[in-house]
Amino acid sequence: MFFVTKILKYYTKRGIVQTRSLLLIPVPFFSYLYALNLNIMIKTENISFSYTEYDKIEDLNSVDLELVMAAREAAMNAYAPYSKFKVGAAVKLTSGAVIRGANVENAAFPSGICAERSALSSSVSNHSNDKPIAMAIASMRGDEYTDDPPSPCGNCRQVIAEEESRINGKIKIILSGKNKTMVIDGIGDLLPLQFNRKNLNI
Ligand SMILES: [Zn+2]
Repeated sequence: MFFVTKILKYYTKRGIVQTRSLLLIPVPFFSYLYALNLNIMIKTENISFSYTEYDKIEDLNSVDLELVMAAREAAMNAYAPYSKFKVGAAVKLTSGAVIRGANVENAAFPSGICAERSALSSSVSNHSNDKPIAMAIASMRGDEYTDDPPSPCGNCRQVIAEEESRINGKIKIILSGKNKTMVIDGIGDLLPLQFNRKNLNI
């Protein structure tokens, strides 16, 4: 910063730089120099993730396909008189058992529950020692399965993250629509920088 000030003084004295024109030098430029002077490190980090996409669910392996079909069936049991958006989730456990859940809406909207949390609540309640290894999610608008895959809401992402934390393992997420199905390695990809038990030192 001192060095830059010296240069500006030199040129200002010789009329090369007008004092007024200095006002046009943007503040971020000086902020950058200030940060350099104090040895402050400023970095831009990128977070990315990869997933596998299938145009046709028939191309999924048989285990994942079975789970998607279970999620689709579960969606048909959804109680969604308000949104007409039915969601089904199917959780595969280590033992091979499949636990289903559907969204259950309520006239008092916040009292409703999503399919993903519905399935996981049932899984933990009835099979607490049987770890989930995968979850498929499918959705319907009216009587038709949606073209695009559904995406878990923020609440559900947080709950799936807690379950991964509880079982100390990843849960594969399969989001299935008519036009494409996305297979994601674990909830960390959908909820980076998540708040979990580590933040509580547990
Ligand atoms: Zn949700």
